[in-house]
Amino acid sequence: MSNTCKITRLTDCFELSNGVKMPCIGLGTWQTDHETTINAVVSAVKSGYRLIDTAAAYGNEASVGTGIRESGIDRKDIFITSKLRNAHHGYESTLEAFERTIARLGVDYLDLYLIHWPNPLHYRSIGEKATAATWKAFEELYRAKKIRAIGVSNFMPHHIDALMKTAEILPMVNQLKLCPGITQPEIVNYCQKKGILVEAYSPLGTGAIFEVPEMKTLASKYHKSIGQICLRWSLQMGFLPLPKSKNPARIQENTEIFDFELSQEDMFAIGGLEGCCGTAPDPDTVNY
Ligand code: NAP
Repeated sequence: MSNTCKITRLTDCFELSNGVKMPCIGLGTWQTDHETTINAVVSAVKSGYRLIDTAAAYGNEASVGTGIRESGIDRKDIFITSKLRNAHHGYESTLEAFERTIARLGVDYLDLYLIHWPNPLHYRSIGEKATAATWKAFEELYRAKKIRAIGVSNFMPHHIDALMKTAEILPMVNQLKLCPGITQPEIVNYCQKKGILVEAYSPLGTGAIFEVPEMKTLASKYHKSIGQICLRWSLQMGFLPLPKSKNPARIQENTEIFDFELSQEDMFAIGGLEGCCGTAPDPDTVNY
């Protein structure tokens, strides 16, 4: 949480354990097609976003790259995250998948590369071994300065413990499903104690949050929108939120969360809205 105290405006950054600065809010791009992604990225850069989150599995890395170029921003001023697809775990496959990712994005380095899931179905019988080999490739790419920071997504404490049996570098980030009612305290505390930055994916519950009556009441109380209440909660929890929107006005609205603060009581109430945005997937039983 101490990292969060330094976040007071959109241009502020979280500092990763290796000193790399990561912009405090990112644009999510899951489930967005080619044209939509380009337009969303251009709008986001215009609204001041400096972090874009994509993944090989989203099929839109090339569109993200186009959007960044069309926005006119310098490559060095934008923070790009992508993720390794589940089917490409293993040392050689990871190195090859990484090269394809940066080629699609049209860049020569990534700011952050994540292992998308810890225990993909295809590798489940050799899960630990496959992840160890994958991470070895991540470490090599990091040392070669092709990636500025490396991390994981959907990893629980036992996945990180297993990874660290062979790893030389602790992941710098863990991207997790975190939104009202989904607080995953065990893994969040584990990461925050170890200095692993927690990113909140689906911070708006993939849209489910907008129907929750308690959130409507809080939005009226603070004279903010439900999305803004949600994203402010995320930041005050010490998470880096990754809201997705294809709409320029909502992309802008989702950045306007620095002019108010939620009380401790309301923070607690939001965290306790169990089930309102579904549940977090169990990475050891997902069917992908
Ligand atoms: P989300 O950000 O939780 O919610 C997006 C939904 O909320 C969309 O339907 C969007 O509609 C709507 N919305 C956004 N801002 C709004 C506002 N201010 N008012 C009203 N509606 C608003 O969705 P998500 O895509 O599940 O998660 C965000 C990002 O996290 C993803 O895009 C992806 O980058 C990442 N993610 C990562 C993983 C992982 O396994 N690591 C998994 C899922 C997601 P409009 O577009 O029409 O505005």
